[in-house]
Amino acid sequence: MSGPTLTRGHVVIDVEACKGCDLCIDACPPGVLTMTTHAVNRRGYRYPVLAPGCTGCKACSQICPDFVFQVYKLAEPVEVSVDGEGAP
Ligand code: SF4
Ligand code: SF4
Repeated sequence: MSGPTLTRGHVVIDVEACKGCDLCIDACPPGVLTMTTHAVNRRGYRYPVLAPGCTGCKACSQICPDFVFQVYKLAEPVEVSVDGEGAP
């Protein structure tokens, strides 16, 4: 059971810059980043994908050694359904 998730931020992920180190996964307080399991970038690394519920806290962009994330704080929180519909 899961309804819409309140989302306060959005991150743009430069997947080609990612080296698959996983640091961002544990750094994300609401746990809305997960690594791909099969998909890899052109250099062969798995990369993070964003689920609804980002708070715009910037922890991911602060910990990432490779500047993969651009974080945007939303002016107003939005409810995003769990399948990702409605993401900016
Ligand atoms: S900004 Fe914060 S909440 Fe959003 S993905 Fe990054 S670490 Fe997670
Ligand atoms: S911290 Fe950066 S380089 Fe490491 S997995 Fe996350 S996005 Fe990729």
